[in-house]
Amino acid sequence: MRTHSDDVGTAGLAVEALAPEDAFALLGNEIRMGVLEALWRALPDRVSFSDLRETVGVRDSGQFNYHLGRLTDRFVHRNEDGYTLRPAGTLVMGAVVSGSYTHTGRADPIRLPDPCYLCGGPLVLTYEDERATIACEDCAELVTGATVPPGVLADYDTDDLPGVVAAFVRTLVRHAQAGFCPTCHGRMEGRLQLVDATDTHSADADTADPTVRVSYDCARCPERVQASVATAIMETTPVVAFHDDHGIDVTREPTWRLDWLHDDALDVVSTDPLCVHRTITLGDDRLTVVVDADLAVEPIPTDDPVLVDADRDAVPQELRGSRPDEPV
Ligand SMILES: [Zn+2]
Ligand SMILES: [Zn+2]
Repeated sequence: MRTHSDDVGTAGLAVEALAPEDAFALLGNEIRMGVLEALWRALPDRVSFSDLRETVGVRDSGQFNYHLGRLTDRFVHRNEDGYTLRPAGTLVMGAVVSGSYTHTGRADPIRLPDPCYLCGGPLVLTYEDERATIACEDCAELVTGATVPPGVLADYDTDDLPGVVAAFVRTLVRHAQAGFCPTCHGRMEGRLQLVDATDTHSADADTADPTVRVSYDCARCPERVQASVATAIMETTPVVAFHDDHGIDVTREPTWRLDWLHDDALDVVSTDPLCVHRTITLGDDRLTVVVDADLAVEPIPTDDPVLVDADRDAVPQELRGSRPDEPV
């Protein structure tokens, strides 16, 4: 069996990698998947050889031993107390029970309890080809959208699904913000990005104005998590504190209830380096923060118009007040 001795890390971290086709080939067998499942169900306990063989239902001890041996030490760990899953085995079983590999998902459209913040029309969650979208049926405003494994939604009542989807999307963004790719766990870095709205697959792609979004790009794989500036800054210290002052826990509030998330209070104050001001309105109060290209966020006193309007003259008219398209 060939191995890659490639170089996932730099800091003296030794990583020995199995060729992906070999790793997946090891799993392509009913008995071996039965072993992983039996060990998964037994966690955190270890399982003896004979109990494991009985659970998987294989009579021939030699045949069972052969298959078990192929899984050790990549997916299964063995010691004198028996067998258990290695982290790789747990990840495989996690992917299996999430339905990521084994299920395709769709659901009937679900109407949200709250109306569209723009037009008052019905907000509807649709789920097709593992893509979950919350949008307005009347004005097509897109609240949020992301690929969601079917297993994420499997254990909830229908009425709870919009909240589950919104929470899952925020988890993806938090994962990216913490610096980890949600797909491969590679290193992710976020930056402000000027994008042409016609290049994005958004609900308002028919407007040709450039707009600013935040992109978190994985250094290892093609994964890109995109978010509006509003979504990207909503859990930063000044924004959380501002909501706290208004009795709102912004980390838990469903995103379709936060009207400011979807307004257009974004000003591009500089394009090189890219820098924006984002204003958040709650009731009669406003908070304006400056967001730089590397996503550092600083509050600006809103009663200081000189600061708020700094450098605006240097920015082309069409960029001022450009609005983010889809939240994620
Ligand atoms: Zn609407
Ligand atoms: Zn990645």
